[in-house]
Amino acid sequence: MIKQLKLSPLSLFSIVLFTSLFGFTSTMANSSEFDNVNIEVIKARNNVYMLKGAGGNIGVLATDKGLVMIDDQFEPLAERIENAMQSISKQSLKYIINTHFHGDHTGGNGYFSHKAPIFAHQNVLERLLGEGKKADFLPEITYQDGLVIHLADEEVQLTHYPRAHTDSDTAVYFKQANVLHTGDLFFELGFPYIDLKRGGSVKGYLAAVNTLLAQMPDDVVIIPGHGKLTDKKRYQAFADMINYSINRVSKLLNEGKTEQEIIILGLGDNYKQWSWQFISEEKWLKTLIADLTSH
Ligand SMILES: [Zn+2]
Repeated sequence: MIKQLKLSPLSLFSIVLFTSLFGFTSTMANSSEFDNVNIEVIKARNNVYMLKGAGGNIGVLATDKGLVMIDDQFEPLAERIENAMQSISKQSLKYIINTHFHGDHTGGNGYFSHKAPIFAHQNVLERLLGEGKKADFLPEITYQDGLVIHLADEEVQLTHYPRAHTDSDTAVYFKQANVLHTGDLFFELGFPYIDLKRGGSVKGYLAAVNTLLAQMPDDVVIIPGHGKLTDKKRYQAFADMINYSINRVSKLLNEGKTEQEIIILGLGDNYKQWSWQFISEEKWLKTLIADLTSH
């Protein structure tokens, strides 16, 4: 797996995701492999922006009362991320939100926690404590079901989705701007990564996606956890793909097919385009099989 990796931002996501699963994230943080990463600023709508670098997409709300930042990628990129935010607005950072605990979304916590308090679901705190993270890496304000931040004329709605990508996921909706940051409840670039060992579930993941689809206006602008700025139509296609995958694998399991047989049969030509560097069709099928046979 390591052999295939090159130094694109996507690969860095893969390396850090891979290494973070084995607890080596801190060694990556010292790596010079972030040297060539640029932080790109993309306007989502009104005063909400998406920052692309390496790792999970960052969301930024810019108001005359300060900035709100969703996720913070990796420590070696922190100053570049801060400069990119300054290019949007000279206002200071007011709040930070972690959509979940994974290292490619929280890696900059140790830097940004000195600028503003971090908000996250209670399980983000538990998971980061479990990884032995230092105090300045941890969220200061935690919640169970969600909370609402009222800043300037924006209403930032944080909603927890249990047992989805992990057990710590929050989706963030900017009501006035009508922009949704899904965290890793949406991999725009392909099959989702679902962290079964840390509270994730394929059915819980689909339920979260379906709930978000039902609640969001049709013209919502979506910042996905990974991939490009997108819309509800693409999110619906993602939901349809997951729904089809669960139904197909359930059916094949019921027929008594083995893992190897299911991998050979696959999902069919309509779904080939959802394979990407980190989550191939085979890896996605293995996640489905592992979860659907676990109870
Ligand atoms: Zn993640």
